[in-house]
Amino acid sequence: MKFESYSFAPEIIRAVSECGYEDMTPIQKLAIPPIRRGQDVLASAQTGTGKTAAFVLPLLQRIFDNPAALQPGVVRILILAPTRELVAQVADNAKAYSRYLDARVVSLFGGVKTTGQANKLRQGAELVVATPGRLLEHLQAGNINLSQVEVLVLDEADRMLDMGFIKDIQKILQATNKERQTLMFSATFSGGVKQLAEQILRRPKVLAADRQNTTATTVSQVVYPVEQRRKRELLAELIGRKNWHQVLVFSATREDADQLADELNQDGIPTAAVHSEKAHGKRRRSLKEFTEGKIRVLVSTEVAARGLDIPDLDYVVNYDMPFLAEDYVHRIGRTGRAGKTGVAISFVSREEERILADIEKLIGQRLKRIMMPGYEVSNRDVLLKQLQRRRFGKHKPDASSATEQVAAEKSMSGRRVKVKVGGNQQQKKLK
Ligand code: AMP
Repeated sequence: MKFESYSFAPEIIRAVSECGYEDMTPIQKLAIPPIRRGQDVLASAQTGTGKTAAFVLPLLQRIFDNPAALQPGVVRILILAPTRELVAQVADNAKAYSRYLDARVVSLFGGVKTTGQANKLRQGAELVVATPGRLLEHLQAGNINLSQVEVLVLDEADRMLDMGFIKDIQKILQATNKERQTLMFSATFSGGVKQLAEQILRRPKVLAADRQNTTATTVSQVVYPVEQRRKRELLAELIGRKNWHQVLVFSATREDADQLADELNQDGIPTAAVHSEKAHGKRRRSLKEFTEGKIRVLVSTEVAARGLDIPDLDYVVNYDMPFLAEDYVHRIGRTGRAGKTGVAISFVSREEERILADIEKLIGQRLKRIMMPGYEVSNRDVLLKQLQRRRFGKHKPDASSATEQVAAEKSMSGRRVKVKVGGNQQQKKLK
């Protein structure tokens, strides 16, 4: 179904087609009519489903239909999102869709001075996209007036609750006009999300583009059982052998992200790490290089990846499994976006089998396991015994470091592998 069939203004249709959109995504088909009718909405939609356009487009149509002169600090539409990346992304989309309209879009997030944002607010804004914390600062400083908010959107509501924003959200809600329309978008419906929805939504239209808590159908998901300490090697091998490009890799910590990026670079795979300790500008630069294909792999922590909008992302690798099963759904939502197909690969160590079981329960599906020859977890004890025998027997290999130990293990499969020797890489035929 095309956007024209929902009778949007030609200015909006033109902007949307310049974004390259032709048909509506399922969430857009479902959400646009009730939002345009002014109904409250509770929508289950992951990142990557086209949810941003699903709420921004009908709200821009509302502004187009009812233009109004704005007092200083007054906001007509307020969108709350959990991270500055997501705020920037939603605001960028809103600016692109409103290119031919008379609508001011202002984004508010932390990490930068408030003065520039306050100056923009002084003229009033049709649409404000904000993180709850920074919005509250502006509210307390008297820079923003929420008494005339016509529509409030909570984007990634589950994330905002996970990140502890509930008190800020409550304060913001108190400052907004009670007659407003409220829209909640959430990838998962946890108890907290349901409770908040009951408090703030009035007879909402409940929508789900996919089944609740299920992963997008365009993502094929596979699991590689592998020992934790051999994950790096397996990743480099898969990327090289299968010629993967645009791979988003999730690691557990910032340190792991940096280290993995260093090691992959040493392996000749152009990689960057993004995490919360990297400056905002640097993260954006890495993302740009990644989308332009200058780097092949982006290693990210859970927090940094929220809100990253990477079109055409082909591969998501769970190098470390997430702590929460629901985060798996968010992570793999980065691929297979808006009808495109993607692959989600999970490296599961013995210790991570339990979280894998929780994930399979949550998504209601058992994931396909692929045993990579030479990396089988079950063979580990046998391999170690063989290794010990070799190390202390007649044909002792010159292996003493952990890297060399891996090489020695690999030697049992007699394959040609890259090993680090004195910091350099060499191709060796291991026997
Ligand atoms: P979102 O779920 O809002 O993060 O959107 C995911 C991606 O899909 C973004 O890159 C959007 O630009 C893109 N997108 C949104 N709607 C459509 C559409 N109808 N057709 C093609 N791409 C779309």
